[in-house]
Amino acid sequence: GDQAISETPLHSRRKSRRIMVGSVPVGGGAPISVQSMTNTVTADINATLQQIAELAAAGCDIVRVAVPSQDDADALPIITKKSPIPVIADIHFQSRYVFQAIDAGCAAVRVNPGNIRKFDQVGPDICKAATEAGISLRIGVNAGSLDKDIYAKYGGPTPEALVESAMKEARMFEDVGFHDFKISVKHHDPITMVQTYRLLASKGDWPLHLGVTEAGPAWQGTIKSCLAFGALLSEGIGDTIRVSLSAPPVEEVKVGCKILEYLGLRQRHFDIISCPSCGRAQVDVIQLAREVTEGLKDITAPIRVAVMGCIVNGPGEAREADLGVASGNGKGQIIIKGKVVQTVPEDQIVPTLLERARAIAADMEAK
Ligand code: SF4
Repeated sequence: GDQAISETPLHSRRKSRRIMVGSVPVGGGAPISVQSMTNTVTADINATLQQIAELAAAGCDIVRVAVPSQDDADALPIITKKSPIPVIADIHFQSRYVFQAIDAGCAAVRVNPGNIRKFDQVGPDICKAATEAGISLRIGVNAGSLDKDIYAKYGGPTPEALVESAMKEARMFEDVGFHDFKISVKHHDPITMVQTYRLLASKGDWPLHLGVTEAGPAWQGTIKSCLAFGALLSEGIGDTIRVSLSAPPVEEVKVGCKILEYLGLRQRHFDIISCPSCGRAQVDVIQLAREVTEGLKDITAPIRVAVMGCIVNGPGEAREADLGVASGNGKGQIIIKGKVVQTVPEDQIVPTLLERARAIAADMEAK
């Protein structure tokens, strides 16, 4: 089906209902989308659009922009019109910006019923405006913005507390006949996050937006996101993902895309198989792998290149790849589909690999 690119996915996908975020379907077996959020001042239209273009080029499917002020809300019509991907307005506290975002043509609005004043009263109007505009909403809680009563009842942002809070919001929408929303229940701790989404997934068919919130800088945040998303996605839970890093947003997109690629949920791009090197290595594998990765980072064809430090595993691994090199005696054996096609001196390994890889990639794209 269209849900998994891999022939043998780890798990069948949980059956969620489908919503549209602009042109991007979320849920109901749609490909899992990658989201990020701009960190420019939204009202700085040029900077925001430039960052959105960069995110889209890196594989981002949906982008969210923060709307903390009137100037930001005023920038939305141009941003939504010029963005190459659907734009979600992220709104806290002020319900009037929600209506403005809907009028501005945003693909969706993220509202936090927990901190919108008098949400009981404005909620139905928001649903009505969204229905009329044909757009979707995202609701849900973060550990940090949990309803006070629920917090007190459970003594903290436990999975049960987060799920009860999210379901209370969902019911509020469903009671007025609104169903075009997805839910997030973010937590900064991967274990709590996984338990929370599992519980929520068992309670209904809402499409789920996965996130480990405030996951930390790139290194820690990447690990937390891989663990949490890996656990959930490998159980079939999750319809759209956002990796949160204290790093440039394009890094979030790269991590999100790779998680999906390695789980067989998105078409693979260039990938490298390289050995860790050991006392047997006859070439600087770490440097070689770095140069090959850098030299092929723009390749979109699903090519696999193997870089091996010696002939112990070299030929075997290289056979599994489209292209590989096994080094020894100051030379590199270039291997294509398991056959040695050329032997080059060590200083020619990288240029030869890059040239061959580009030729194979061009071939793949032509097919
Ligand atoms: Fe060591 Fe060779 Fe294996 Fe690389 S391929 S880790 S150099 S034995």
